[in-house]
Amino acid sequence: MLTVALWIIAGVSAQPGPHASPDLGITVHRISPRAAVFTVGPWNNSYLALATQKGIVVIDSGFSKTVAQAVRASIQAEFQRSDFAFLINSHEHSDHVFGNSAYSDIPIVGSDLLRASILRMKSEPASIAPRLAIPEESLARARQELSKDPQLAHDPRVSRSEEFWKVVQADYSAGVDFVPPAITFDQRLSLNLGDVSVKLFSFGHWHSAADTIISIPEEDVVRLGAILYAGQLPVVRYPYANEPLTAAIVDHWIAVLNEVMAQSGAKTQFISCHGWTVMSKAQCAPQVAYLGKLWKEVRRAKSAGRTLQQAKEALPRAQLFAEVAGLTNAADQVPNIHEHNIEELWTLAP
Ligand SMILES: [Zn+2]
Repeated sequence: MLTVALWIIAGVSAQPGPHASPDLGITVHRISPRAAVFTVGPWNNSYLALATQKGIVVIDSGFSKTVAQAVRASIQAEFQRSDFAFLINSHEHSDHVFGNSAYSDIPIVGSDLLRASILRMKSEPASIAPRLAIPEESLARARQELSKDPQLAHDPRVSRSEEFWKVVQADYSAGVDFVPPAITFDQRLSLNLGDVSVKLFSFGHWHSAADTIISIPEEDVVRLGAILYAGQLPVVRYPYANEPLTAAIVDHWIAVLNEVMAQSGAKTQFISCHGWTVMSKAQCAPQVAYLGKLWKEVRRAKSAGRTLQQAKEALPRAQLFAEVAGLTNAADQVPNIHEHNIEELWTLAP
C-alpha cells in the first residue's frame, strides 16, 4: 500500500463567515468517539466527519456550496473545533462534490478518476446539465404533489425539502465552482493523522465513474458509499453508469472488496453515503462472495463454450448462491438482478 506522509496545514479556520447558515435540518449521529455522520436534505445525504489529532477530516462536501457550508458549521459545532484538515470526495455525483468550494481553504483528496470526472464537468458543461436541473425538477414535482394533496402543505418535511431545493437552486444559478482534488491517487492512499489513519481504495466504475471506499481502521468504520445496499443483491453496472467496463475492472472490484472485508471485523460499521443505515460485515461479506463466485462461474461457462442462455440455466441463484438467498431483488432500475449480472459479466468475460 502506498503511504504518503502529508503536511497538515496548521491553524486552518472554519470557513463559514458571520452570515447565518440556513436551517436545513441537519441531523448528527455520533458513531464512534472520533467519528460522526451528518445527514441532510430530501435525498438524505450523509457526510462523515472525523476528529483526529491532526485536524478534522470530512468525507464529501454537499449538494451545493451553501449546503456544504451548513454541514461544515454543524461539524464544527459537534466537535467544538474548527481545524479542518482534509476534504475527501468519495465519488463524483453532484450531491457529494458540488459543494467542494466550501472547503477551498483545505486540501481536497480524491482518486485520479474523480479528478478526471470533475475536470470533465468544467470542460463539458452539457454533461452535468441533468445534475444542475435536479433542484428545479424536484421543486416542480413537489408542486405537482401539493396540487394533488393540499394537506401536504402542513407537513414540515415538505416545507423543509422545498427550502433545501431553493437553496441549492440559488447556488446553481450563481454558478458552481467545480473544485477538483489537489491530492490524488491511482489505486490506494493512506492519510496518517496521528491517532487515526484513513485508507482510501479507488474502486472505479460502479455506482458512478469514480467510486472510492474509505476505511478508518482505528474507528472500525468503512465508508462504503453506494457500492452495496443492505438486504439487496449487488448490481453489476447500473443502467445509468455508461462507462466502458473491462474484465480487469471486475477483477479489481473483487480484489478491493475482498481486501476491505479481510481488514474488517464483526464490529465494523459499513456506512452508506445516503441515509442512516449501518451495514455489518455479516451483511456485506455474502454479497462480496456472491460477486466473486458469479464472476468465476460466468468465465468458466464462457470458456467451456456455453451460450449465454445455457450459462443462465446453469447458474440458478437459488441452488448455487445460497449465501445471498435472503437478499431482495429490489433495485429500482433492474427487475432481475441476478440475470442482469450474468448478462453484464458475460460481455466482459474473456
Ligand atoms: Zn451517488
